[in-house]
Amino acid sequence: MAKVKCPVCGGLVEVDDDALPGELVEHDCGVVLEVHRGPNGSITLKPFEGVEEDWGE
Ligand SMILES: [Zn+2]
Repeated sequence: MAKVKCPVCGGLVEVDDDALPGELVEHDCGVVLEVHRGPNGSITLKPFEGVEEDWGE
């Protein structure tokens, strides 16, 4: 498990080491976070906006 800082509350989020980009992780603070991978394989998290499909304009 990797521990990644939550971008919303600053707490630590446990993420599987083999988590795939786009995977969703729910944090204790109630936010849903999307997994992103840096070029060196590092895991970063971004708040998931709740849009899974592109509905167009
Ligand atoms: Zn959080």
